[in-house]
Amino acid sequence: GANGEPRKILKLDEDVVNRIAAGEVVQRPANAVKELMENSLDAGSTSITVTAKQGGLKLLQIQDNGHGIRREDLPIVCERFTTSKLREFGDLRTMSTFGFRGEALASITHTAKVTITSKTPSSQVAYKAKYSDGRLVAGGPGQSADPKPCAGVTGTTILAEDLFYNMDTRRRAFKSPGEQYKGILDVVTRYAVHFGDRGVSFTCKKHGQPSPDLHTPPRSSCLANIRVAFGPALSRELVELECSQAEELLDQGADGGEVAPSKFAFKAKGLVSGADYSAKRSDFILFINDRLVESPSIKKTVESAYKDVLPKNTHPFVYLGITMPSHHLDVNVHPTKREVHFLHQEELLECLRQAVEQKLAGANQSRTFYSQV
Ligand code: ADP
Ligand code: MG
Repeated sequence: GANGEPRKILKLDEDVVNRIAAGEVVQRPANAVKELMENSLDAGSTSITVTAKQGGLKLLQIQDNGHGIRREDLPIVCERFTTSKLREFGDLRTMSTFGFRGEALASITHTAKVTITSKTPSSQVAYKAKYSDGRLVAGGPGQSADPKPCAGVTGTTILAEDLFYNMDTRRRAFKSPGEQYKGILDVVTRYAVHFGDRGVSFTCKKHGQPSPDLHTPPRSSCLANIRVAFGPALSRELVELECSQAEELLDQGADGGEVAPSKFAFKAKGLVSGADYSAKRSDFILFINDRLVESPSIKKTVESAYKDVLPKNTHPFVYLGITMPSHHLDVNVHPTKREVHFLHQEELLECLRQAVEQKLAGANQSRTFYSQV
């Protein structure tokens, strides 16, 4: 205050804390879609369908055919920091699931009306439950909040309605639902590309629209799914990119043995456009240890390898999947897990730059050769 006396320090109410945290995890509908799809993948799903109405702000639904959620877990599944995945902090180093914070579902219930319908393989019936602010709520007046048995197939459907109903500023900040839907389609597309060869089918559609905007078959490939999502003109221009360093150490890490932090080991595999393709918008799809991440430094380095072959202010298409020892990668940097930190950044950037430059040089040579024939 003006008289120089400090205000008393008070602990925030839990609901206030939870809503602030929720605003971090779910910044826009596409964030929620990413979290929910990762849960579906963690549950071993082979089919994931995303449906959105008004850019996901009115309605967002993710349906999967994974192992489901037990009836007895439904009462706590949406509380903050409840998870079936992480048990001890040390497990973070070897985490093979996407989730570990136990925050996604909680966050979504703090900013939307959520309904979960789920059936495990051993259960005779599915159960349906409604949530608000992390807790079970009754479906209507006079009803109990207990999960209700209903008909359904094995798997989980998560329905989130009226996203940001309790965050006026956030809701008003979203200009067009069309833009939000683009964001949703974009994340589903990225997962469809990366998991294209792992037997998972992805579908993304607008509510009430008969044909989906994206549908990839369960048995497919990264290249085939790029063709489905981006069209044949692009997919024809793609070349395979592969590079690695001390790749054998990666398998050692998978056995539980730890790769020393001083050792530089990685493997990168991807599909990148050649010298004949350039686009106004930058499509850069990056997964590290199967996590969709953003790395401004990797993007800058890879794109700079194209600077001599592409027209100014245009971009290549890049899809890269990088694998590194799990404890060389810190995934717990940000609640959205979008940003990661990793060891040996400079060496990795140098390898990638060289690999792309070689590819581009090689592609040029073969074209020159071809045109001489
Ligand atoms: P986290 O993924 O970090 O554990 P979440 O809030 O995303 O936290 O999910 C909490 C728990 O709910 C998960 O650990 C999992 O057991 C269960 N769960 C969520 N979504 C699904 C799903 N689609 N299929 C099966 N289980 C799920
Ligand atoms: Mg999760």
